[in-house]
Amino acid sequence: MKFISHLARTVFFVQVFMVTLSACNGAQSKTVTQNSKVMTDKQHPANPYYSRTDTTSLTLSDAVWKEVLSPELYEVARHGSTEQAFSGKYWDYEGRGSYHCAACGNRLFRSDAKFVTTCGWPSFFEAVRPNSVLYRKDSSFGMERTEVVCGRCKAHLGHVFDDGPPPTGKRFCMNSIALEFDQDKASPKKRP
Ligand SMILES: [Zn+2]
Repeated sequence: MKFISHLARTVFFVQVFMVTLSACNGAQSKTVTQNSKVMTDKQHPANPYYSRTDTTSLTLSDAVWKEVLSPELYEVARHGSTEQAFSGKYWDYEGRGSYHCAACGNRLFRSDAKFVTTCGWPSFFEAVRPNSVLYRKDSSFGMERTEVVCGRCKAHLGHVFDDGPPPTGKRFCMNSIALEFDQDKASPKKRP
């Protein structure tokens, strides 16, 4: 009888231990989910490599990029995905300022070079400086295109075509998610 009682107590403690263990697992997975959500929702994810002033070349592993970018930006910037037309926040945006690389902060385009298109992606006729973007030949999907990547971190931004307006005739067709807009500061009012 005493043995049975001891056995029952042991089984009880094992059960309590198992329940506690599964509760810990549950709490742990919940924390991971919350962290992922925070990174996805924040406009400026916690990215220690992001800088709007540093233009030196940035070479990071794919694993690091996956950690510091939101899943949506990571897919476009590092895997060359394309956002759906008319789904991005900048295709018809008209604010005055600069567009930076969303992955590393590098300045890419000025709003002065943005023009109205019906293609559904933000389009520019020139980059802010010659080396702010780089070009790669892209033969995917049976097409011959020129891919545009960030001059600092090599993030995929979009493609450039020869059907743009003057003065360059170029159309830099970009993914909104790969860009971050920085509005110009209002110039101080002059004293009368
Ligand atoms: Zn970049």
